Amino acid sequence: MRIIKEALDIMFPKECLICGKISDIRLFDVPLCKKCLTDLVPVPEDKRWQFCLSEPYENDTCPTLTLYVPFKYEGRIAGIIHRIKFGQKSELTAVLGTLLGKCLNNDNVSCDAVIPVPLSAERLSERGFNQAELIGLYVGKELGIPLLKDVLVRSKNTKRQAEIKDNLRRAANMSGAFKFNDDYSVDGMSILLIDDVATTGNTLHEAAEVLLLNGASKVLCCAFAGNRSVKNVESY
Ligand SMILES: [Zn+2]
Repeated sequence: MRIIKEALDIMFPKECLICGKISDIRLFDVPLCKKCLTDLVPVPEDKRWQFCLSEPYENDTCPTLTLYVPFKYEGRIAGIIHRIKFGQKSELTAVLGTLLGKCLNNDNVSCDAVIPVPLSAERLSERGFNQAELIGLYVGKELGIPLLKDVLVRSKNTKRQAEIKDNLRRAANMSGAFKFNDDYSVDGMSILLIDDVATTGNTLHEAAEVLLLNGASKVLCCAFAGNRSVKNVESY
């Protein structure tokens, strides 16, 4: 079978899902090219941890909430996320999710379950998939923990965060954005909360707060890529 597959690859070369040039390598069974592969390098271990909110506010119920982000949202990485969300290349979530899972494993992170930040119904029907959920699926496989995909539910259609430049208004836009699905119990569980991109941290913070209010013992917020200096990122 492998010989047939290799022969087919030679006769009908696949294209790199990131740049579109001829693929000369596979990563986690996704066709890529060596040039793109060299850009998939995580930031140093001591740069992956930060407080969830870039601009903390008074009366925050979870001010010590931590965010784990191993890749910088710029250049090729930003391009990959854009291709997933707007180019329908959902296969690339296997690369991001598996890499993220391997980083978490190397950094000795352990949790009981993965929960993705949900999309609004409107955006889910536009795109056909939730990229955070697909990334979370591969992270869960790497860590050997389950993905609980609909524990959090969008309770309102928030404006796209990218359209709001002001931090306080971004926080207000997300306030009350998520509801807890009572079919589940997260009592006493430690949760790895996953999104694809983190900028101000408001979305992850809001989702984490709902999980903590519903009994989770600990929530670690996590995004594949982040950049505090970029605010106009469409995080959905
Ligand atoms: Zn490429």
